[in-house]
Amino acid sequence: MQLPKSRRRQKLREKKCQYPGCGKIFFGIHISKYCPEHRQDRYRIRKRTKPEDVNIKNQTFKHNYTEVVTMVMNCALEGCDHQFEVKIYPRQYIYPKYCPEHRNEYKRIRHLQLIGREDLIEQMKLEGESFEIEHSVNADSGSDSGEAMEDVA
Ligand SMILES: [Zn+2]
Ligand SMILES: [Zn+2]
Repeated sequence: MQLPKSRRRQKLREKKCQYPGCGKIFFGIHISKYCPEHRQDRYRIRKRTKPEDVNIKNQTFKHNYTEVVTMVMNCALEGCDHQFEVKIYPRQYIYPKYCPEHRNEYKRIRHLQLIGREDLIEQMKLEGESFEIEHSVNADSGSDSGEAMEDVA
């Protein structure tokens, strides 16, 4: 049995910054990839910019209206036959896909439970969570704040 405090020190070692074109040598803990400068958020390399995220709650509606029009759309939720009005703006193509009631995820889940479509709930959750997986780096579960800071800084 070891007190966690006894292994609090992070071993620093020479690392080479992996930021494209940098290659600077710095001292960092084993999971550090970038020099202090390139650890800043504005240099963060985003592995996945997912344009499709927008389609979880919204839909892309291609149109070529040149003035604002009001359209009636059907709620995209399985089993919901509500309709709702949407103002369509010129050159804007992203619009809500659920009726006002079902823009709330909790309500969508409730609705799907009522109609017995648990499979769709699972699917919805998978879609909703996929963009949060990116930073679940649990390299060392016994780590302390020193490592947790790595990606935040
Ligand atoms: Zn660097
Ligand atoms: Zn609805």
